[in-house]
This record gives sequence, structure tokens and C-alpha cells, in this order.
Amino acid sequence: MNFERNRINRRVIDDLKNRSTMGMYFYIAITIAVLLVDDFYQRHFLFSVLFFSIMAGIAIFRIAHFYLFDMVDRWSRTFNYNAFFASVYATAIAWGLGFAYCMVQPEESVTTKMLMLTCSAGLGAGGVVAFIPARFVSVPYIFLMVTPAVVVMTTLAIDLPVVFLLVLYIVYMTMIASRGNREYWDALENEHLLTIRSKEIEKMSRKDSLTGLYNRLYFDEIFQLHFKTAARSRFNLSIIVGDIDHFKPINDTYGHLAGDAYLESVARILSGTFQRDTDFIARYGGEEFVILLLDQDSNETLRLVEQARLQIEKLTFQYYSHRIQTTMSFGVAISIPGLNEDKDNLFEKADKALYRAKNGGRNKVVLYEESF
Ligand code: GH3
Ligand code: MG
Ligand code: MG
Repeated sequence: MNFERNRINRRVIDDLKNRSTMGMYFYIAITIAVLLVDDFYQRHFLFSVLFFSIMAGIAIFRIAHFYLFDMVDRWSRTFNYNAFFASVYATAIAWGLGFAYCMVQPEESVTTKMLMLTCSAGLGAGGVVAFIPARFVSVPYIFLMVTPAVVVMTTLAIDLPVVFLLVLYIVYMTMIASRGNREYWDALENEHLLTIRSKEIEKMSRKDSLTGLYNRLYFDEIFQLHFKTAARSRFNLSIIVGDIDHFKPINDTYGHLAGDAYLESVARILSGTFQRDTDFIARYGGEEFVILLLDQDSNETLRLVEQARLQIEKLTFQYYSHRIQTTMSFGVAISIPGLNEDKDNLFEKADKALYRAKNGGRNKVVLYEESF
């Protein structure tokens, strides 16, 4: 699973919306304040009605979009994303034009101009920070908000020192947008890597490192699960415990590494024999293996175990100049577990059968019977 920086997905959209929707309430409140505080609306009534309607309309749309997101997303994701981005650009364009209009009015009150200037700077900075996850939104946002004022003020040569500061402001905000964006994606990438790592570690904690089979810890978990499933659904649960015969002499004669390599071969034979999705094979201890078969016919179970036993008997394992050969004994217990039955009971039965196999001369498959 690759991580692609700056790729817009559901998570990023959620972040953008969570970070920016709160601002919409401020847009409405600030628009009202700017228009009312120094009676600007009386001097520019038509503009004020228009500006307020547009700003409030966009803000209400974005608030509604925030709450109805899931509904629209189910219907069309592309439309949903595009509607969101379009409404964000619209916010900046509408405010930017209102800002420019206000700044170039001759004889306009200083209070209103100062209010407009500070509010625009504040809302612009808020927007940049909110849209940091998407550079293609945060950078245009600040440009759309401030450039109209810069252009008309320059053209009409009004308050040029203010224009100069506004240009500096755009540059500074752009830098903040790109730095913040880098940090946001770094954090997201780290989160992604951490998720992958923790999944890998979880997987590894279930496996036996030598054979690649599951380990005893995970066996305990799956045994519990299969036992309950079998009890509830009235399925057969087969448990097979296998132990390599005369394994100690192999270690003693050829060395531990030879023993390890032999164990890997046995694991391969078992994996090749029990191949259904629900078949579960674990290395239970040193040279002991355990297999769980869910809902398998008992004759078929015994046939498969016998097949594995034969393959192991036939296996002559070449380890450098040595030919290693031995056999394996199996104890099998099959039952439909009772709902209140103890799973260890079933395991003990298989273990008893294995004991019989060993005592009966090894290289055998023994099925547990009540007479044991
Ligand atoms: P039996 O037929 O009665 O099962 O005889 P055995 O020698 O196989 O049985 P025993 O349980 O006495 O010996 C098991 C041996 O398995 C002891 C140890 O040397 C070896 N063993 C256990 N774990 C490992 C391992 O991870 N690698 C290797 N190479 N040997 C192991
Ligand atoms: Mg043993
Ligand atoms: Mg053994």
C-alpha cells in the first residue's frame, strides 16, 4: 500500500471540512459587524445587501454541506468534493471583491476601512491555516481574497503603503501554507507507516519464525474460536496433535541446524496437506505440531493425516552429506463440542491418542476412542 502525498482522499476532505467549517459562523458575524458598525450599510445600501446575501448564502451552504456530507457523498463523491471546493473558492472570491470595493470608496469612513482590512487579514490567515492539507486550496484562497484589493488600489493609486503590506502579507501566508502543508503530510505519512508497522508486528506475533506456521499463542486464540463456532453450529471439530519420532537423535547426530531444517520440511508437508481456508496449523512446541479442522468429515480427516504421515515417512532429507529420515506420530480427536464443554478436554483426548501412537511403536495415526 503506497502513500501518495497531496492525494485528496476522504480523510483529507474530512480534515479540510473540520478545520474550516467553524470559520463560516465568523464570516457571517464579521460581515454583519463590518457593514453595521460605522453605518457603512446606510452609505452603500445595495452593495451591503448584496454582499451580506452572498456571504451568508455561501456560509449557510458550507455549514449545510458539512452536516449533509455523508448523504451527498453516497450519491456522488466527485460532485460532493467539487461542490465543497467550489464553495471554498467562492468564499474567497466574494470576500476579496467586497474587500476591494470597500477599500477604494472615496471619502469612506476610516473605521470601516480599518475593520475591513483587519478582518480580511484575519479571515485570510484563518483560511490559509484551515486549508493547509490542500495547497491547491490554501494558496489560491489567500490570493483570491487579497489580490482584487491590491489590483484596484494599485490601479487607482489608493493607500499604496497598505498595498505594499498586503503584497508582503500574501507572500508570508503562501510560505506558511507550504510549510504547514509539508508538516501535515509528514504527520499523515508517519501515521500511515505506523499503521502498516503495527499490522506487520501483529502478524509476526502470531507466527513461528522458523517454520512460518502459526505459533502456540495464536493457536490458543483460534482453538477457542473454532471450538465455539463448532459448538454453536454443530460442526465436527478435529484436533490433530503430531510429534516427530526420535527427533532428539537427529539433533544429537547432525546438529541443531539440521534439526531445524527438518522441522521446516515437516511444516511444508503439513501445509501442503491441510489446505482448506479454515484449516489451521500451528507449531505447538519444539517438534510438536497441532492442526485444527473445522467441519471436516472424520474419514476425510483420518485420510489426510495418514497421507501426511506417509509423506513424512518417505521424506529423506538431504542435509549437506547427510540423509536424514524419520517418522511422525499423530493423535486425533474428533467431536461436535458441547456448548458447555471445556476445550482442553478435546485437546487432552488428542494428546492421549498421540501417547498411544508413541507407545504402540510410533509412525502411527491413532484416533481417540472413549475406551482409552
Ligand atoms: P519421541 O519419538 O518419543 O518423540 O522422541 P523425541 O526424541 O522426538 O522426543 P523428545 O520430546 O524427547 O525430544 C524432542 C527434541 O526436540 C528435544 C530437542 O532437542 C528437540 N527440539 C525442540 N525444539 C527444537 C528446535 O526448535 N529445533 C531443533 N533442532 N530441535 C528442537
Ligand atoms: Mg516431543
Ligand atoms: Mg518427538
